[in-house]
Amino acid sequence: MSPVWQVDVITTFPESFGGFLDVSLLGKARAAGTVDVRIHNLRDWAEPPHRVTDDYAYGGGPGMVLKAEPIVAAVEELRGSDGRVVLLTPQGEPLTQARVSALAARPHVILICGRYEGVDERVRTLVVDEEISVGDYVLSGGEVAAMVVIDAAARLVPGVVGDAASLVGESHAEGRLSHPQFTRPEELRGQRVPPVLLSGHHARIERWRRAQALHRTQRRRADLLEGRELSAEERQLMAEFPPCETEAPGS
Ligand code: SAM
Repeated sequence: MSPVWQVDVITTFPESFGGFLDVSLLGKARAAGTVDVRIHNLRDWAEPPHRVTDDYAYGGGPGMVLKAEPIVAAVEELRGSDGRVVLLTPQGEPLTQARVSALAARPHVILICGRYEGVDERVRTLVVDEEISVGDYVLSGGEVAAMVVIDAAARLVPGVVGDAASLVGESHAEGRLSHPQFTRPEELRGQRVPPVLLSGHHARIERWRRAQALHRTQRRRADLLEGRELSAEERQLMAEFPPCETEAPGS
């Protein structure tokens, strides 16, 4: 069986990915061949004998810049006919579930990890299709950002999450947060599991969960509901089931 989703990562620190690739869902998906992640050392495309991948910034200033030539050469060798080339950068478009989903739907994604002061601007103009930021903060390198993209997208590749029903209703899948979850014991330090969850009444539990998801979204991330009217049914659900009382301290 040919892999469903292929990812090539270009990095100056390939060892960062140790462990991450082997555990849990991603480890199983790689073992099953559903996801194929290949980590490449940028130095392999740098000029011998020293294989230097960075240089001083034109115009001066502190810090080094990743050179364009090895990155462009790596992309040109790895891209093939179907590679979507993504630069990880704090200056990129924010990573959202919609972007994750779009990347998971591509057969082949190439992730470029920057370091130091970033990458030579000509990488963007010559080979990059898309620039992605994992948040409004600055990481030391693109490796952690690449892991975020791989982890979030791989679980959307068909067959990776065993029970696809668990993806339905997840936070951000439908423009809202998910409902609170409970497991045993029924009572912990005076906090009881909401009785409806113990009722065995599946339709009622489903309604309770939808109501809690809406309450939680309204309370924590009202921005996700902006631009859309709650339906009469949703408003009715929220009135029928008030917010669950086990919000975290300070929330
Ligand atoms: N000088 C750059 C700037 O101010 O925009 C920041 C460079 S950062 C120290 C080094 C590398 O980490 C970047 O080239 C990028 O690959 C990665 N990185 C840092 N923050 C990131 C973020 N929020 N999202 C994605 N990649 C990020």
